Amino acid sequence: MLVDRFNRKITNLRISITSRCNLNCFYCHREGYDASNELTPDEIAEIAKAFKELGVEKLKITGGEPLVRQDIVEIIEKLPEFREISMTTNGIRLSEIAHDLKEAGLDRVNVSLDTLDEKKYSYATRGGRIGKVVSGIETAVDAELTPVKLNMVLIEGFNTDEVDRMVEFAKQFKGDVIVQFIELVSLNYNGEGHFDVYSLINKFEKDAREVRIRNMQRRKQFVFDNYAVEFVKPVDNSEFCMACNRIRVTADGKIKPCLMRNDNLVDIRGLRGEDLKKAIVEALSLREPFYRG
Ligand code: SAM
Repeated sequence: MLVDRFNRKITNLRISITSRCNLNCFYCHREGYDASNELTPDEIAEIAKAFKELGVEKLKITGGEPLVRQDIVEIIEKLPEFREISMTTNGIRLSEIAHDLKEAGLDRVNVSLDTLDEKKYSYATRGGRIGKVVSGIETAVDAELTPVKLNMVLIEGFNTDEVDRMVEFAKQFKGDVIVQFIELVSLNYNGEGHFDVYSLINKFEKDAREVRIRNMQRRKQFVFDNYAVEFVKPVDNSEFCMACNRIRVTADGKIKPCLMRNDNLVDIRGLRGEDLKKAIVEALSLREPFYRG
């Protein structure tokens, strides 16, 4: 079991498999970093296996856009079994490949969708076509990559007027689609576009049939009769940090101990077996809560 100095158990791993993307969202924090030398399917499997043997239970594949990799099905096939393997995608290629991904061992997907307005979507993503995303979501539901979580980053002046519309859109899938509202991490940390997520949390809390607090980052989930919504609030949130059980690997094979920091990455590329596990355990010593109470 991986436990850091702050007694936080590491049960979730997020591996970025590319920094390339077929969209160019104006607010994107470029989680995958600039890696020209991407990990191979075998390297990804080796890293996943080491984390699994150290106690990690859930794996998320991310990017850049994971579905731009031509070998994505092979990547999923080669992964060891986890309690859950999920992927976050912009959904553009999802309808072509959702059934193959399910067959390869993917359990579910998160699909990023910040607006339901065709023009706004094209503007925000610099040319993305929303129709492809919507059919990607429908195919993912059909392939039982469920629950599909719709990642909606809340941006003041851009999409905060579409909260109800997004919930209505999700409701038609009768529980198979959950809206996940994400607080914007402002790129230059100057608060531009920031929206007060708590105002929305309070609104849902009042009406929900049930409030669940997830282990991961103490995320709140509000359950209604035939749908649910969830919140990810990473900024200025010491609870998020204290309950952080997630560790990340960048597209070029570096452990990233904290979402909010880039100055403590640990290179694990080329390591195997026990050496790899030792490096992972060492990287844990660099984990510390970014926001403290
Ligand atoms: N391309 C994939 C996708 O679209 O889901 C995976 C990578 S994307 C960087 C992962 C998630 O991070 C998306 O849901 C995206 O909306 C979110 N994201 C990107 N920039 C962000 C920011 N500045 N603040 C909060 N979330 C952000």
